[in-house]
Amino acid sequence: MSDDDITPSQISAVNLQRAQRYIDSGQDNLLPILKYPRRVISVNFPIEMDDGSVEVFRGYRVLHNRTLGPGKGGIRFHPEVDLDEVSALAMLMTWKCALLEIPFGGAKGGVVCDPKSLSQGELRRITRRFISELGDDLGPYTDIPSPDLYTDEQTMAWVYDTYDVMHQGNNNRAVVTGKPLLLGGSPGRREATARGCVSVTEYFIHRGLIPALSELRGSRVAIQGFGNVGEVAAQLFSECGAIIVALSDSQGGIADGEGIDLTEASAFKKTTGTLVGLAHTETITNSDLLEIDCDVLIPAALGRQITADNAGSIKAKVIVEAANGPVTPAADRILAERGIWLLPDILVNAGGVTVSYFEWLQNLDNETWQLDEVNSRLHQRMRASAEATIARWQYLQCDLSGNEDAEYPLDLRTAALTLAVDRLAQITAQRGIWP
Ligand code: NAD
Repeated sequence: MSDDDITPSQISAVNLQRAQRYIDSGQDNLLPILKYPRRVISVNFPIEMDDGSVEVFRGYRVLHNRTLGPGKGGIRFHPEVDLDEVSALAMLMTWKCALLEIPFGGAKGGVVCDPKSLSQGELRRITRRFISELGDDLGPYTDIPSPDLYTDEQTMAWVYDTYDVMHQGNNNRAVVTGKPLLLGGSPGRREATARGCVSVTEYFIHRGLIPALSELRGSRVAIQGFGNVGEVAAQLFSECGAIIVALSDSQGGIADGEGIDLTEASAFKKTTGTLVGLAHTETITNSDLLEIDCDVLIPAALGRQITADNAGSIKAKVIVEAANGPVTPAADRILAERGIWLLPDILVNAGGVTVSYFEWLQNLDNETWQLDEVNSRLHQRMRASAEATIARWQYLQCDLSGNEDAEYPLDLRTAALTLAVDRLAQITAQRGIWP
């Protein structure tokens, strides 16, 4: 069966249903609240391009839920941004914050554009105009953006500056996270998502839960995507003694069974704009990378990369979802049947939002924490959430043995989602439905 056509929001709906099966029936009537985004904003705005022409761009900001606190979520710039995907990603942020016990709700935004074909000046104008269109629907206590696909510290600096110009006289630093350090960014934020991935992967290995993988040292790792998350993940996994056997970016991949030299890979990517063609490596496609012989496979680029079409050919022992939504529900089923472990996105890549939360706390206090403190707090939270997910998974297996969902496996994704949805349903019940 092919599930190539499944949309991101259909995936979210299926996954929510999977969790729903294991939620206390007393909370059942609250689940419809979590099914739909609370607020959806769509804007169209003109931008004067470098050549004097005028183009109209479309942007979205979706606030899925704010039961736990203000909305939190990235802004992505990509030609394939659409409302369906942004809504699904906003929902994912709600689960992530609830799982990690971070007092934020879920949000996401994006602008439909091809950042590779735009100049810095055009990107700056798009960012400023998009943020001004969103107006007071963003704010330190309302909805707080951060970086995502093809946006970075520079983009976040423009977000901050635009909001600050609109709200002069206040301490506005907490309106956006992932800023440059000099502008109130947190030490360790750039590396946080990848650091969280390593922390969670190590924890599952340490707990003896990944069959045939007793330590990261010596393990063979393949990573799809060489951006903020993928490049840093390669460095950090390598520092733990793992061998990076394959890497890729939007233009293709490279492989070397003996291990890719990361210093050379980063320098080559910086000068040529791609990894493809790095000396002493074999050129492969992005599909080859996913099916390569390795122990740990880390999708760190786009969604829906592992589907019913290629899940049967994956050779990794464990998939670590650094990207958001890289594996479809049909692929989850095939991977589970084949005994391949999957560490789910809402746990694995939550290091980014965790340190974003730390950045927000530092900004409200006008303080800067030491890097060691940030990393140690991050590590603690990631491991506590990994342990809570394992405990929930084990509990569900004992409690419901013989009564599992026949269609989908009772996997770690379901356990993590159940934990997050349960927490949200309980808090919603405590707050009550307004008015
Ligand atoms: P980025 O823009 O810095 O990097 C994206 C990378 O993916 C680039 O190397 C790009 O070349 C590559 N890529 C693009 N299209 C590709 C394709 N078709 N095949 C293979 N590679 C392709 O983005 P990022 O911040 O590293 O985010 C990567 C993923 O991680 C996204 O799914 C994002 O939502 C998720 N994520 C990011 C953060 C964060 O803190 N940045 C946090 C949580 C989740």
